[in-house]
Order: sequence, then structure tokens, then C-alpha cells
Amino acid sequence: MAETYFGKELRRLQRGLKPGGRRWVYVPYDQVTDSLGPLSRENPKNLGIVMVENPWKASRRPYHKQKLALILANLRHFALDQARRGVAIRHLVTRGPYRTALEPLSKELGSLQVMEPAERELRADLEPLVKAKRLEFLPHEGWLTTRDQFHSGTGESPPWRMDSFYRHMRRETGLLMKSGKPEGGKISFDPENRLAWKGDPPAPSPPAFPRDPIKEEVGRLIARVFSHHPGRLDLDHLPATASDAQKLWDWAKKNCLPLFGPYEDAMSTRSRGLFHTRLSSLINIHRLIPGNILKEVEKMKNPLASKEGFIRQVLGWREFVRHAHSATDGFRELPGEKPPVARVPGDGGYRIWAGKPWPSLHEPQDPDGGAEPNFLDCKMPLPPAYWGEKSGLACLDRVVEDVWAEGYSHHITRLMILSNLAALLDVRPREITDWFWVAYADAYDWVVEPNVLAMGTFAVGELMTTKPYISGAAYIDRMSDFCAECRFDPRKNCPVTHLYWAFLSRHERLLNKNPRLAMPFRSLTKRGVGLQKKDRAVFKMIQKLLPEGTAVRPEDLSEI
Ligand SMILES: Cc1cc2nc3c(=O)[nH]c(=O)nc-3n(C[C@H](O)[C@H](O)[C@H](O)COP(=O)(O)OP(=O)(O)OC[C@H]3O[C@@H](n4cnc5c(N)ncnc54)[C@H](O)[C@@H]3O)c2cc1C
Ligand code: SF4
Repeated sequence: MAETYFGKELRRLQRGLKPGGRRWVYVPYDQVTDSLGPLSRENPKNLGIVMVENPWKASRRPYHKQKLALILANLRHFALDQARRGVAIRHLVTRGPYRTALEPLSKELGSLQVMEPAERELRADLEPLVKAKRLEFLPHEGWLTTRDQFHSGTGESPPWRMDSFYRHMRRETGLLMKSGKPEGGKISFDPENRLAWKGDPPAPSPPAFPRDPIKEEVGRLIARVFSHHPGRLDLDHLPATASDAQKLWDWAKKNCLPLFGPYEDAMSTRSRGLFHTRLSSLINIHRLIPGNILKEVEKMKNPLASKEGFIRQVLGWREFVRHAHSATDGFRELPGEKPPVARVPGDGGYRIWAGKPWPSLHEPQDPDGGAEPNFLDCKMPLPPAYWGEKSGLACLDRVVEDVWAEGYSHHITRLMILSNLAALLDVRPREITDWFWVAYADAYDWVVEPNVLAMGTFAVGELMTTKPYISGAAYIDRMSDFCAECRFDPRKNCPVTHLYWAFLSRHERLLNKNPRLAMPFRSLTKRGVGLQKKDRAVFKMIQKLLPEGTAVRPEDLSEI
């Protein structure tokens, strides 16, 4: 096979470079940085790095093409940049667990080191090498907080609460604190950050990034080898270099952060991201370093509610979910319960939509498919609406379209549209989690599992959230303009409202002791027998129509 542009460049840059006598570090797909760990300190001439491209990993789930391109293009650019610094590179392509590639190398080069991988799935894969002392885990320097700080902030055993952890971390870090007191007199400005967006001030368009031979080559590789993966590949919006990352960060600082707070919960058909920064996919692979970002944000002259709102996401939520995930071993160890674990990685409903199974290369000895907690005992398969079949619900259809176009949507669309509807329909929590994992470019087990299993679907009960995040049409109508393009009327016949009440009624036994749901349960009682009957009938009808790929119409509801 002809040598690739990347292969030629790497060979050219390494010509004459002596690989012997170096300390060898494995750089996983989500650690593309030389600002952390051994790469930030050691003389490049004494360092070597091992980088692995892995079609086996790509085949484990039907990942969005944009995510595959993001990982591959960043890895390749990073390898070339490190070679330019004089670091020796061993670049491998493997078709099996990462350990199968690293083990022979560790024999040839001597034992390897790696900053402890963020993904549990990768840690599990590498564990045998660690036990055999062929690989050493070093502390991951990208995190802002330690396990001890997590427990000091929110308690040794669950339930854990983000707000107490965040309060503790604000004190520990001194971020937005003056003489031990929070700036502005309170820790959180969340209640002030709830404006709907009516089109003014205009929302910024995300930046494009220059194409280059690496991105073009990765694009051709995706078209040739990974064309069966879903999602649209957009090379013009693919950040793959350090300067692309800086460009995105500069754009976010100028255009998003000043207005980040007030419109944080808004949703719109006219802007996919509004004032959200789109940084997550680069933060999660460490092209952008969370600690550096927060230092800059603190110094900016933005309104306090916006600064605090952003800092809460990165210092609070991002760190909190990661600790909750690792402290429960990826939700395998819950209080008084060990949920079942999926033997194989899930396809997020691909097979139902595509009418054929996902061609995974999974072998019995490979890492499993993740824990399957299911507090509310939800059993419905994920309907093909999440893969692009029209559901007739404009809010769902619009957000799904956005996600497959970009591998991105912002927090509130994830929570209050996509996972809200999955929860209201009693979709299997593991299946909607796997869907988020494949559909979003920023998804990795440590972040997607807590956000979906805990926040989005309440599958781990009150472990880390106080109540299920669910809503009917009134909230969606108040915070978005989706309803204006819908055949349903949010005030008269919206099925989401029926689904909301049907959910409360169905799960009353498990939820009615929850103090935060006392008011909704009082309203449910007042709703009357006739309406509750209709709520149940709408739920049944939608549970039947959507899995068939049939859109729901207002006529269907009026017949009930
Ligand atoms: C159902 C659901 C699934 C999610 N799946 C993922 C996922 O796979 N990967 C992922 O990174 N985030 C996930 N999140 C969290 C959050 O929605 C995204 O981090 C955020 O939308 C990314 O877009 P942004 O960079 O524009 O964020 P912004 O709104 O600009 O926020 C800034 C940063 O804060 C961090 N952040 C904010 N909220 C969270 C959170 N709840 N958990 C972790 N980090 C957070 C991210 O690093 C983000 O880039 C999920 C949330 C929900 C409700
Ligand atoms: S009317 Fe109901 S289904 Fe339609 S967009 Fe609004 S909330 Fe969604």
C-alpha cells in the first residue's frame, strides 16, 4: 500500500533521530498535550512516545464520523508536532485491545508509562500490563481536584451533591473568592441564569478551521474505511491542531463567555450552540487544559454571573461527574446494589434503525459494555427517532438533526430534550447512554455515563442528583422556539405534557417520597381521573408508534 502523507512526514521528521536511551510514554487518544505529565518536563531528546490508531476501538460502537476524525487528526498532528520537538515517536495501527499493541513494545523499549487514562474502558484494557509491571500509571495532571477533595466536599458515601462539592472546591482553589468569601456574596448565580433567547443579542457562529493535508487525509480514510459510521463529516469545522484549539478558545472568550450566564438554559432553532463554548471535545482530549482555562476566565472582565456559571461547569460539574464515576467503578458499585454489566458494548439503538447489527470486532476477553443500573426499571428500546426518523415532535426532531450534523448540541438540549424524552418514554438507560456515547464528539465513559445514567435518566436514583430532570411542554416552550415549528400546540395538545404526567403516575411508588417532587405529585392528584387516563393512553400510543418509526400526529391524539 502507498505510504500516507502522515507516514512520510513522520519518517522525514524522525530521520537521524536516535531512539535509544529514552523514557517511553504511551499517549492515549485523549491526552494530546505536552503541557502535562512527563512531556511537559522532560528534555524532548530523552523522550519517546507511543501512539496507537485502533480500528478495533472505532468498531466497538457506531461512533459519529466527526468524532473519529477528531481523534485521528489530533493524534496525527500531535505526533508530528512532537517529532518536530525532537521526541521519538512509535506510531502503531492495531486491531485489538490497546494492550495487544503495547505489550510487545514494552518488551522492546522497556516498561512504559502513561498518565492514568480517564476512560475506565481503557484502564480495564491496560490493567493486565500494569499488573505485569510492563506499564506504569502516573497521576493524570489534567484534573483539577482529587478523590479526597471530592469526599471532603460531598461526603464519604452517597448521596453526593454537586453544590457541596463545588462550594468546597471554590474555597480550596480560591477561585472567585475574596478574603474567604465568594465574590458577589454567593457561591452560585444559577437562579439568575435562566433567560430565554429571542434572537437578540445575536448568537455567534462557530469558527471554521483551515484544512490541511492531515485533515484531508483523515477525511479520505474515514470515507474509505469508516463510511458505515453514522453522522456527517465536516472537515471545515474540525479542530485538529494546537492553533485550531487556540482559535476556538479565543472565539469562545470573545463571543460566548460575556453572555454565557443569562442564556445558559435557552434553546433555539436559530442557533445550535447559542453562547455555549463548544470546548468540551477539546478539553476532554486535553488540547485545552481546564486549569489554564479557569485561570483566564477568572481574570476576565465579564459579568460575575457569567464567570461563575462557566467556572461551575468546569470546576464543579465536570470534576464531580468524573469522581462519581470512578468512586462507583463506573456505577458497578452502588449503595446496596451491584447492577448488571453489559457483556458487549451497546450500539445505542443502531440495529433497530439500520435493520442490521453493528459489525463490532468484540471478542469475549475485550472490555465489557458498561454497567446497567435501572432504578425505574425502564425497558423500551431507543426509537429510531434518535437516528433521524421523524417522530413528529419538533423539539426532538430538530435536536437529533443537529447532533447528527455536528456531533454536538449544548447541555440543555441534551438534558431537557433528548434525555428528557427518553426518560418520559421509559427507554432503557443503558441504550440511551450508548446513543449519547456514539453520537457526541465529546463522549467518553467517565463523562457520558454519569450525565446520562444519573442526570438524564435517574437510573442510579438519588446517588448524585436530587430528582429526575424531566419536564412537559411548558418548560420547553418557555425556554425555546421549537414549539413554533411543531404541529402540536404546547398549551393544548402536546404529547410531551401527557408523557410527563404519565411518567409521574407510573413511577409514583418509587418517587412520591422525594420532597422535590411533592408539588408535581400534588398537581397530579388534582389532574383528575379522565386526564390521567388520557396521559396513560398517549404514553402507550407513543411507545407503540415511535419504535415502528412512525411519526406521531395531532390526529392520533384527538382520537384518544
Ligand atoms: C444527557 C447528557 C449527556 C452529556 N454527555 C456529555 C459527554 O458525553 N461529554 C461531555 O463532555 N459532556 C457531556 N455532558 C455535559 C455537557 O452537556 C457538555 O459538557 C456540554 O454541553 C459541552 O458543550 P460546551 O463545551 O459548549 O459546554 P459549555 O456549556 O460551554 O460548558 C463549558 C464546559 O463545562 C464542562 N461541563 C459543563 N457541564 C458538564 C457536565 N454536566 N459534565 C461534564 N462537563 C461539563 C464541559 O467541559 C464544557 O465544555 C452531557 C450532559 C447531559 C445532560
Ligand atoms: S409542542 Fe410539544 S412536541 Fe412540539 S416542540 Fe413543543 S414541546 Fe416539543
